[in-house]
Amino acid sequence: MFFYKVAILGRKSPPLIYCSEQSIQPLELVSAPLKTGQSRGVVLEETQKPIFNCKEIKPLRQYFTPLQGKLAYFIAPYYFSTLGESFGLFTPLEVEYTENNDGNMGLQSTDTFVSNICLKNLSSIQAKFYTQILPLKNALLFGDTGSGKSEIYFHLIAHTLKHGGDAILLMPEISLTPQMEFRLRESFGEICAIWHSKISKKKKQEIIRGLQDRTIRIIAGARSALFLPYKNLQRIIVDEEHDDAYKSQQTPFYNAKDLALWLSAHYPISTLLGSATPSVSSYHKLHERLFRLKGGYFKESGKNVRFIIGGDEPKEETLQKIQETLDKNKQVIIFLPTRANFKYITCPECAKTLQCDACAITMSYYEKEQKICCHHCNSTAPAPKYCPYCKGDLILRRIGTTELCKRLKEIFKQTKIERLDRDCIQSTNHLKQILDDFNQQKIQILIGTQMISKGHDYHAVGLVVILGIDYVLRAGSDYRSREKVMALTMQLCGRSGRKERGEVWIQSAESQFFMPYLGKYDIFLDDEINLRGEDYPPLSKIALFHIKHKNHHRAKEIMEFLLFLSKKESCKILSAGPCEIEKLQNYYRFFILITSKSAKTLHQQISSILASATKQGLEQGKWINVDIDPLHFL
Ligand SMILES: [Zn+2]
Ligand SMILES: [Zn+2]
Repeated sequence: MFFYKVAILGRKSPPLIYCSEQSIQPLELVSAPLKTGQSRGVVLEETQKPIFNCKEIKPLRQYFTPLQGKLAYFIAPYYFSTLGESFGLFTPLEVEYTENNDGNMGLQSTDTFVSNICLKNLSSIQAKFYTQILPLKNALLFGDTGSGKSEIYFHLIAHTLKHGGDAILLMPEISLTPQMEFRLRESFGEICAIWHSKISKKKKQEIIRGLQDRTIRIIAGARSALFLPYKNLQRIIVDEEHDDAYKSQQTPFYNAKDLALWLSAHYPISTLLGSATPSVSSYHKLHERLFRLKGGYFKESGKNVRFIIGGDEPKEETLQKIQETLDKNKQVIIFLPTRANFKYITCPECAKTLQCDACAITMSYYEKEQKICCHHCNSTAPAPKYCPYCKGDLILRRIGTTELCKRLKEIFKQTKIERLDRDCIQSTNHLKQILDDFNQQKIQILIGTQMISKGHDYHAVGLVVILGIDYVLRAGSDYRSREKVMALTMQLCGRSGRKERGEVWIQSAESQFFMPYLGKYDIFLDDEINLRGEDYPPLSKIALFHIKHKNHHRAKEIMEFLLFLSKKESCKILSAGPCEIEKLQNYYRFFILITSKSAKTLHQQISSILASATKQGLEQGKWINVDIDPLHFL
């Protein structure tokens, strides 16, 4: 009889000991009996016969690759998760399939294909950067929107394929960028597969088999694409590297971009980060290996950006400008940070605002459906006619995309106007349809939330209007709010006139914040590093304790206890208290943010705090979570 330590996939529990009649290799998946039924687990190592009786595991004839194993063993301690949780992120290979296929046929056919890949020629500056980036283990391509980053990516990928390697192109929201998918297909055909959470189970299985017999050599996908079983991974490209979507918002709180950099630091894998608005942290970290590709909207010296004092409702002169643009047969994009008709319903009599029962969030108002909806837990209720507290008349505040669309349709009667936001985009096909219609000029005005800024190629946009940006700038206590707003604004500017120079109108009372940095994102990044100071990234490491409990008093008590432990460990505490959204889905929420110059010190402090908390019955995972290098502070 053999005895093994087994981590149960996705579970918070530490590894358990099981027995088996047959010998099983580490990293092989097994079916393991638990009190709750059979679960999937991974064999970690062989161990001594324990004093208690063991249950038996059965091999599933699936296994993780050595590289997946190494990454899982890094993730668990770094992000304070269990091995079960970290292995739970990965997709295994299947033994069955490998035995039935010798794999050679696939390899030969892709080799012929790879040698015939035909890409667009690079410009001299692109070719220069390509040659310089090629031998580097990691680098940052800081290239303006429309400056031709993708061509460099494609040439690097082709080089990797020709040398027998597999490549990953990570994109924050690939399901929202059908144009990139089209270009990948055009250049690489069937050896490239698209991976994200919305693809079917059957398709996923086909992709895994394709990776296994190497008929698939490139995966373009969301952050989970990093966890697939590659046979010979040699290159990772992280596009739009500034995007927060690379960070997981549940345990393990990993960041796929940081994991890609970790892989390139430890294995023969090269990682390239790319963005038109690189994050402050990547800019700082990779400053020595930064490649600045200029071009796109701000290439010429004259800037067509105009500021108008205003908020989220378009001013008269903005409306005039839209009309002028339409008269010239040019298209208009309008950004607004909010969905629905209105963000708030408030009562001027008693000054109360309608909130979700389960969350400390205002309910958004939908006129057509006559409903109110919480944008966090999606709970809905019929829209009230009067104030539920004092029966006074209600007023609506902060217009959203639905309302703006309705109003503009009343003003520009002959114009086709569409929306692009999470309320109206139900499927990738629908999104493709709207983008196609817009590019074929069947739509003249496109109104959208942040989704409108995400890497879409627009051809005939004469005007980008940015409304309500000050709300984004002032939102929250997030130390990155300036960076987020500046990146968003630059991304939006980049949507204007990529072929012919278009104009950008920004309604804001904060023009003095934006003006010095428009087209000079490098200067913004330098200033921002100085403004952040010593205690925040990139100069320090930070970690966030999340505390949540259904009982408000208990939640606060746990926070105070952790605060006491943090002080005992001599942690440097940046802030602590109730979260900005104090209640979410009936849980009261508190936080503690700590910092250290040394990642090692920070990890040691957190380990001691968690150990002391566990002794008091407060294990991590139930009421307490630790987020290392946090990006989300709501
Ligand atoms: Zn009232
Ligand atoms: Zn809610």
